[in-house]
Amino acid sequence: MSAANGTGPGAAPDPGWFPLALRLQGARVLVAGGGGIALNKIRLLLAHGARVEVVAPVLDDALAAMRDAGALAHVAGEATRERLRALLPGCRLVYAATDDRAANRLVAAEADALNIPVCAVDDPEPSSFITPAQIHRGPVRIAISTGGAAPVLARRLRERIEAVMPAGLDGLARFLQAERAHVVGRCPDVNRRRRVWEAFLDGPGGTAAAAGDRATARQVLDGLLDGVAVGGEVWLVGAGPGDADLLTLRALHLMQNADSVLYDQLLPPELLDRVRRDAERVFVGKQRDRHTMPQEQINAELIRRARAGERVLRLKGGDPFIFGRGGEEIEALMAAGVPFQVVPGITAASGCAAYAGIPLTHRDCAQSCLFVTGHARRDGTLDLPWESMARPGQTIAIYMGVAALPELCAMLVRHGLPPDWPAALVERGTRPDQRVLTGTLASLPETARAQAVGSPALVLVGEVVRHRVVTPPPLPEV
Ligand code: SAH
Repeated sequence: MSAANGTGPGAAPDPGWFPLALRLQGARVLVAGGGGIALNKIRLLLAHGARVEVVAPVLDDALAAMRDAGALAHVAGEATRERLRALLPGCRLVYAATDDRAANRLVAAEADALNIPVCAVDDPEPSSFITPAQIHRGPVRIAISTGGAAPVLARRLRERIEAVMPAGLDGLARFLQAERAHVVGRCPDVNRRRRVWEAFLDGPGGTAAAAGDRATARQVLDGLLDGVAVGGEVWLVGAGPGDADLLTLRALHLMQNADSVLYDQLLPPELLDRVRRDAERVFVGKQRDRHTMPQEQINAELIRRARAGERVLRLKGGDPFIFGRGGEEIEALMAAGVPFQVVPGITAASGCAAYAGIPLTHRDCAQSCLFVTGHARRDGTLDLPWESMARPGQTIAIYMGVAALPELCAMLVRHGLPPDWPAALVERGTRPDQRVLTGTLASLPETARAQAVGSPALVLVGEVVRHRVVTPPPLPEV
């Protein structure tokens, strides 16, 4: 067992911007610049209760009106070194927001010398902080930043997030905030409390709070506090072949709620990154001939954790019921009386076929598709239904078939398929470094050897390989 994929000690430092939310209520903030660039920042600062001082020779009309209304203080004059040295001490933040880059850089240098965080607008280099784009609903804030790399991308992301923000989020968040102390008082155990909140948010209570019906929401919440049992369970979840976009919504939901995750070698880190941060990560991976944890021990571990009250995510590559030993795991859970759920995933054959542009069935040449395992038995032989496999009119997807590829191809030919029958290998299907090799039963084993095909890889045999579409038509402009 080992934890993997952490960002703990030893991980490379992230040179990007550290996200932070700052309380500015009552804090002094200096803004250099009296025009439109400064105005945007000043509005944001005032909305957060900052005491804003603006240093600029003149203020434009909007800022002058704010000064006249007493919303900000104006120090009339250029942001010279002397003036800055007089003004900066005691400031919590500084914005260099003039339209003169050199002037902004002077402000940044002076602030930096005093260790005061400074943002030079549109100039990340001398800045020690940046102001991300925000989505703001009551106490909920979502900040989006690309560190200045791609503002249009940030805007697109913001639109997409806005589109899925549930209605009533503000009211919901305020309700949760108001009830926190009550719930802590009634339910001191932190794990149980988290489940109460999750059940609340996923159920009618959340809907009521979002609709502003606090009385019903409170009633539902109290019901949950009275009744939540801390029974563990196991979620047997298919994570798909690798591309994180191929996770199902249900998989993602359970990944976000698990207390621990038991995962295999097959899973890329991008998938594990989607698991709740606090979940304990347990690697139980199997590599050919080197079983990190025997199946019986995995079963026992799932049962032990569930009995201890954990919600255990058993995350599997592809689909848990296709060459995933999911059947064995649920039998063990059944026998132990541990509740479980199974969530299907996109199996390697579907994922690889789609991303390689090879249809699994085709009206002209493949009316059926077989999924078989090419994993040899202990004695090294392959025990496969050769007669039914070596037929035209079908596609064969061979899992775990790379090691035995020469024998697989030879046997298919021996049982009647022509040596020039099409075949393909998809290595690391759906992942950014996917490779597709095509050939025939006669040529593929040598190609695989010469190209040093690694794991995981899927073999596809059949005339559908000839129908491969390599370059799909370009997507319409959006
Ligand atoms: N339950 C999984 C299969 C597990 S067996 C599923 O439904 O996909 C492991 C085999 O699956 C590998 O040896 C390989 O043949 C295949 N496989 C899994 N992920 C793959 C990928 N991203 N690309 C190619 N083959 C893959």
